[in-house]
Amino acid sequence: RPERQRKPDWIRVKAPTSKGYNETRKLMRDLSLHTVCEEAACPNIGECWTKKHATVMILGDTCTRACRFCNIKTGMPMPVDPFEPENTAIAAAEMGLAHIVITSVDRDDLPDRGAGQFVKVIKALRRETPDTTIEILTPDFRGRMKQSIEEICEAGPDVFNHNLETIPRLYPTIRPGARYYASLRLLEEVKAHNPLIFTKSGIMLGLGETRLEVHQVMDDMRSADIDFITMGQYLQPTPKHAKVEEFVEPKAFAAYGSNARAKGFLQVAATPLTRSSYHAGDDFAEMKAA
Ligand code: SF4
Ligand code: SF4
Repeated sequence: RPERQRKPDWIRVKAPTSKGYNETRKLMRDLSLHTVCEEAACPNIGECWTKKHATVMILGDTCTRACRFCNIKTGMPMPVDPFEPENTAIAAAEMGLAHIVITSVDRDDLPDRGAGQFVKVIKALRRETPDTTIEILTPDFRGRMKQSIEEICEAGPDVFNHNLETIPRLYPTIRPGARYYASLRLLEEVKAHNPLIFTKSGIMLGLGETRLEVHQVMDDMRSADIDFITMGQYLQPTPKHAKVEEFVEPKAFAAYGSNARAKGFLQVAATPLTRSSYHAGDDFAEMKAA
């Protein structure tokens, strides 16, 4: 049986136990909502949930794909929950969120790939919590990309995030259901459709990529007019998932961060524990104030 890999000190985080954590957990259960924080076994859950920051994962807890880095269940998903948009808005109001991140599993089984549910969630949030800024972190809507983008852009999220996840060379093994250039094009389309929406993307480091390859991805992102970037350490959720090839040192992350700023990204988050939604609200507020 494969062994779990030992993590360096800078990755270790405390087990979640706070009152805020328990309240967030109860709220999500009561509203039948899923979160990527739990499903993806995010290492920041103790810190984020204590502050009542949670990233809601819509369209169920089962994904039609099986990426090699991802802890989300795979298989035949459940029907879409019609109460999810309203419940998401209730959760945002209860948590008092200034900024909410909404993500989803991939729904290759649905004719609209799940775009309609994103639209409903955005509308419910605008209605119930008009002051909350909305960031969506979407799948690639394979086979219906253009139309899905148009529908979602019409609903007007503040930030449109879609992760490239890794460098193109590793797609066949790490992200086999997706295409690197299709993901880049998706974000380019968002910007072309509505330049007022901020676009955002991210990659995981430690999967065997080289420094040059990381720089190439950053350049590709800037060519596609992507505004914000996140870079974090890949962690192996279970021994069945892709192995960590390297624990990238904090100072290497810091160097990538300065490189990214020099390349013109408006918002950069690059630390070992950075995740797409980690401190997304703080960073966005800072950026808007600048
Ligand atoms: Fe959830 Fe994002 Fe925080 Fe992780 S970083 S616990 S996914 S809000
Ligand atoms: Fe996980 Fe997204 Fe891949 Fe589904 S498509 S397995 S949710 S990373």
